[in-house]
Amino acid sequence: MTTRAAGISDIGRCRKVNQDMYLVDEELGLYAVADGMGGHAAGEVASDIAINALARSLREHEPVSGTWSPDEAKTLLRQAVREGNRKICESVTARAEWRGMGTTLVALVRVEDRVVIAHVGDSRAYLMRDGRLRQLTSDHSWVNEQVKHGLLTPEQAERHPMRNIVTRALGNQPEVEVDLVEEEIRPGDVFALCSDGLNGMLRDEEIRGVLQDHAEVPHAACRQLVDRANAEGGEDNITVIVMRHEG
Ligand code: CA
Repeated sequence: MTTRAAGISDIGRCRKVNQDMYLVDEELGLYAVADGMGGHAAGEVASDIAINALARSLREHEPVSGTWSPDEAKTLLRQAVREGNRKICESVTARAEWRGMGTTLVALVRVEDRVVIAHVGDSRAYLMRDGRLRQLTSDHSWVNEQVKHGLLTPEQAERHPMRNIVTRALGNQPEVEVDLVEEEIRPGDVFALCSDGLNGMLRDEEIRGVLQDHAEVPHAACRQLVDRANAEGGEDNITVIVMRHEG
């Protein structure tokens, strides 16, 4: 199976800086989105550290031949995310003005005919298969916790004033818990990674429609998604990666 992928990061229409970062490394089969938080240039420092630590860590453990097994990929991803977390915490100790900085991270690695996804925070991974869109990650956010406890409906969560509050991020604690998801790949599958600047502006049904219409050309899908999120207000930085797997 071959993979075609593209990514775009856009500042949006309201923010003065873009604190999102993304990585598309087709050689390693590694894709990631990080959404930095914190003022005084700190948010983009945190997302940059997380993405670089991830890429470096996986390159250091590049398989000599073939690919990692899914279990190896899980172990490597968990270590890489934790390494990024430690590096951000160290930077905060060294520079007082960076106190409070943090970042989300969603990372996908392709191994054989499967993908392994690691995530912390509210950046998302989606899968569109046979015309249906499924969110593969569960947001570490205050509103999602309320939904899980039956205290908010998903519709109330979408527009809730506290929807930006993240309950787990890199850079907040010396150790971070990493969620891992494994999924098989079928021909025609379209995977998407995004920051909340996308899914905060577009409903899942709109995301599904764009992925469906532009499945053949990942870059066109990314462009459409970013343009639509900006047309809806572009309240936050918008980052999206789209991958299509062909048989
Ligand atoms: Ca954001």
